[in-house]
Amino acid sequence: MRLFECGALVPGCDWHTRADNDAEIVRRTVEHLRQAHGEDVIRETMVDNIKARITDETTKAA
Ligand SMILES: [Zn+2]
Repeated sequence: MRLFECGALVPGCDWHTRADNDAEIVRRTVEHLRQAHGEDVIRETMVDNIKARITDETTKAA
């Protein structure tokens, strides 16, 4: 599972999302940036910044 925490990009924001592929993470994060942070225009560099901050979540089976 892949994990993105918005706080890595926008200090103080505790929003995060998980998905099994990076494309889905980017899609959801762009949506979040628009709605929560008023980013109307998502630049290419922003997408790169998002991708650079996606981490692998090591999940332990419960
Ligand atoms: Zn955020």
